[in-house]
Amino acid sequence: MDIIQLLPDNIANQIAAGEVIQRPASALKELLENAIDANATEINVHINDAGKSLLQVIDNGKGMSETDARMAFERHATSKIKKIEDLFHIKTMGFRGEALASIAAVAQVEVKTKRVTDELGTYLDIENSMVNIQEPCVCANGTSISMKNLFFNVPARRNFLKSNASEFKHIVDEFTRVAMAYPEVMFTLDHNSQEMFHLEKGSLKQRIVQLLGTNFNQHLVQVKEETDYMNIYGFIGKPEASRKTRGDQYFFVNNRFIKSAYLNHAVVNAFAELLPNDNFPLYILFIELDPAQIDINVHPTKQEIKFEDEKLVYAFVQAAVKHAIAQASIAPSIDFTLDAHIQQLDAVNKPFTTQDKEQAASSSLFKTFTEKNQAHFIDPSLKSEISHWEDFYKSYRDAEDKETVLPNEKVVSSNLFKDFSQKQINLSATEDFMQILNTYILSPMPNGYVVINQQLAHERILYEKFTQIIHKQKSITQQLLLPETIELSISDSILLEELIPELEKIGYKIEHFGKDTYVIHGVPADVQSNSETQSIELLLEQYKHFSSDIKFSKREKLLRCLAKQQSIKAGKRLSNDEMKILAHNLFNCNIPNVSPSGKKPTYIVYNENTLEKLFGKQF
Ligand code: ADP
Ligand code: MG
Repeated sequence: MDIIQLLPDNIANQIAAGEVIQRPASALKELLENAIDANATEINVHINDAGKSLLQVIDNGKGMSETDARMAFERHATSKIKKIEDLFHIKTMGFRGEALASIAAVAQVEVKTKRVTDELGTYLDIENSMVNIQEPCVCANGTSISMKNLFFNVPARRNFLKSNASEFKHIVDEFTRVAMAYPEVMFTLDHNSQEMFHLEKGSLKQRIVQLLGTNFNQHLVQVKEETDYMNIYGFIGKPEASRKTRGDQYFFVNNRFIKSAYLNHAVVNAFAELLPNDNFPLYILFIELDPAQIDINVHPTKQEIKFEDEKLVYAFVQAAVKHAIAQASIAPSIDFTLDAHIQQLDAVNKPFTTQDKEQAASSSLFKTFTEKNQAHFIDPSLKSEISHWEDFYKSYRDAEDKETVLPNEKVVSSNLFKDFSQKQINLSATEDFMQILNTYILSPMPNGYVVINQQLAHERILYEKFTQIIHKQKSITQQLLLPETIELSISDSILLEELIPELEKIGYKIEHFGKDTYVIHGVPADVQSNSETQSIELLLEQYKHFSSDIKFSKREKLLRCLAKQQSIKAGKRLSNDEMKILAHNLFNCNIPNVSPSGKKPTYIVYNENTLEKLFGKQF
């Protein structure tokens, strides 16, 4: 008996939808891209319950005819390509012709659309890939598409959706990526009838500041290079604006947001030593190049693309960022030596051999590739500012060196290691501590020696201390004499809002003060910092980093972040006394041997056996 059957359309569509529509945010991305492709100059988004019950995008774009409106929801229905070659000349955001079909397969959809030339528009009501109603209607020029009750007919997938806060965070991310690339389009977004974004048309810089927060304004450095092969423009953040965790990093290729670890590497490399240790640079970079040089059809949601000549793009990005850094006099001196391998690439030399030679030679980036070992000329008038930057880094380092170590601990008694014998490690009143690489503490034990990782150890100590404070007594708040105001990006503000109840239990006093502004009135008595705003920002960054770890509660995560933030860091020189206190406090912890994340050891013991194994037994 034959067993193979063709799947009904609605099921085939539901399966296909799995690739494109994972969550409300993916639908938002597709609908926004369609509005952009329809040349809208104003786009309004209404969202209820993080898009789970309603996600509506209204545009003033070109609208659709009655037949097109119906056709748009068929799978593989697109007005954007006709033949396979067109794939390599794409100037639109969409081209796969499956977004609307996918949305209609997994949600209830209502459409109103009208072209300027038509008197009446078209109304459509679609559910489960079936058109329930299609009729003429009175409506504005442009298109409005509402997606209701996403995954109403695929309960298993509906169950996969995360909390509203988490889904809304995804929505803000996708919205940001589209709105960032189209500053000439006005966008608004409201959530449960509360306006979250109101973005007037303006310059790219204005748009970035609107999206990421006004505190970014003074930290942005312009990047702008034009060549025959490609253009780069946008902004990078000065080193001070860098973050401890990967935060605002955006690449757009022909205005499409993409993820690329490879190009990220190019930027990070360009910053080189300018970035504080382990920090991630901020960047918003737009790359423009001939669509024939890229393949955007390698990923269902088009977030990854392939470059025809990846190495060349890498070299351009790196050179452009270096150039911008040098021009802004952030770097005292810049080594512009390009990878010899890249210099030899055909494409790098190409402008020489074509008739465009002259034109190309006048472009600044071209010079960066040709002037031997010195990509560009630093204007001597900038020298004064350059030394200023040197000073800045020097004072930055000095300040770090002077910072009091172990701010939260005191010498308990002169007999520091009195009770060590009860613990699994016996450092019996040892006075011998040695710091190696400003990171590890070495100390002999009766049966070998121990190597302590100073930062992980201190994180463990602080974590247990904070936990104790919270569980034993009510946490003590230290009121700030001068309350500090903090202005956050919308997504950070949503996160903070979510965390405030827990933060208050730890001892913070934070008050919402209109839109995305908060006032910090108090901090936990045991937390030390020079700037409370900075410490909250860092806490949020670390929390985001942590939040993929679902096994911990919010409070646990916060305590771990706080311990990490307040801990002495690897690379910090410690005095003998400080090492003693650290070792003492570590071995007084309940669980001294692992870091608060539970993932790393705080110390490693080398006993006689281990050493004998390494050297062989001596007779
Ligand atoms: P794609 O964008 O890949 O072509 P979609 O399924 O997203 O596929 O859309 C199908 C077609 O519907 C588009 O090619 C376009 O012609 C039309 N369309 C979709 N959204 C809009 C809109 N907001 N305004 C005008 N036309 C639209
Ligand atoms: Mg589309």
